[in-house]
Amino acid sequence: MFKEERDEAKFEWTMLGDVAHGRPNLGPKTEVAVYRLMQFTLRDTLIKEFGVAVADRVFYAAGKTAGMHFYQKLITRRGEFHEFVEDLQEILKNLGVGILRVEKADLGNLTFTMTVAEDLDCSGLPVCDEEICTYDEGFIAGLMSTYMSREFHVKEVDCWCSGDRVCRFDVTPVA
Ligand SMILES: [Zn+2]
Repeated sequence: MFKEERDEAKFEWTMLGDVAHGRPNLGPKTEVAVYRLMQFTLRDTLIKEFGVAVADRVFYAAGKTAGMHFYQKLITRRGEFHEFVEDLQEILKNLGVGILRVEKADLGNLTFTMTVAEDLDCSGLPVCDEEICTYDEGFIAGLMSTYMSREFHVKEVDCWCSGDRVCRFDVTPVA
């Protein structure tokens, strides 16, 4: 599963395992700090070993793979944009990922601005004048690209870490 060399993503949802079977007493939840500990030590190590640009590229790509599989596995309302968004909002809230809002949606030009409040990745972090939610950028790109069946690029423009109270993402189609 993780010991074979590969040139392309081979992630499958089954790699997440049967949590109910494996954790009959502890259940499916953990602390946000534990999730962040994993993410930020991994990111720290990637930066140390390979530099910021590679670390960002890895995080964006991983987020994108996650978004694509998240869509395929969990999103059931795949019709109108507002239905997709309502479904996504409910799932992200129920899973404790964050509170998603679509601030602007231009369905003609396919440009969107989305915000996530109480974001799993960054809400409450020290302010450092950086937008740090690279994984989320990829995650939203993966969701939108799969839903729309075309490529999207996502850039975070405001973040808890840059002093905002929500993370704000510009979503644009790749020409
Ligand atoms: Zn952020």
